[in-house]
Amino acid sequence: MLMEHLILFDIDGTLTRTQNGFVPFNRAILDTFSVAGDIRSVFPDGMTDPHILEEIFARAGAAMAISGEQLNQFANNLRRNYAAALGDGTTTIRALAGVPELLDQLSAHGKFAQGVVTGNFEATARIKLDAAGLVRHLSLGAYASDSSHRPDLPPIAKRRWEKSAGRAIRPDACVIVGDTPKDLEAARANGMKCVLVGTGRHPIEELRYHAPDAAITDLTDTGAVIDLLEKL
Ligand SMILES: [Mg+2]
Repeated sequence: MLMEHLILFDIDGTLTRTQNGFVPFNRAILDTFSVAGDIRSVFPDGMTDPHILEEIFARAGAAMAISGEQLNQFANNLRRNYAAALGDGTTTIRALAGVPELLDQLSAHGKFAQGVVTGNFEATARIKLDAAGLVRHLSLGAYASDSSHRPDLPPIAKRRWEKSAGRAIRPDACVIVGDTPKDLEAARANGMKCVLVGTGRHPIEELRYHAPDAAITDLTDTGAVIDLLEKL
């Protein structure tokens, strides 16, 4: 059976929920820039990590241009601090309800390929997916380490899939699954479909208002989600 859809999942608020993720993030800011910054001073949902940093500094009245080298250092510090905080239990990451079953069944189905499109750097995305037990089906993706501009990311993931599969896929056969209007924006900018899920901080009514191809409260009804994805 030929693969018909490439499903590209956002991570935070869509596949996983993190408790106390601000601890490793804020430690990485201090380690990299030698100033205190607090991710809790901004609404980071749907933003890429480089834009979150810019927003934190701008809010603190310390707007600055962040160099590529500083971003690399920050990504390394974030990975190290995440590993430490997960190791001592300060930070916990779990898969959202229904997600492991959905990824398993999509993988077994035959008509779907799957990957991630996320504002996390690749190294942190790997740590989060691993901590949530989801890394198995999600080796493909595009990350903030590829571009800080989220709408750049879906075509990067698509190209990576095409390279590994050895054939092309139409943009409208790709579906972004996310929890914020920014996920929808990234899908629309690339002619892709979008399903928004109400498991993040945006209420489902607000997600519906933005008119994605579908809006659902969560991913718990595996059969219904797969039906929906097949019919998009
Ligand atoms: Mg998200």
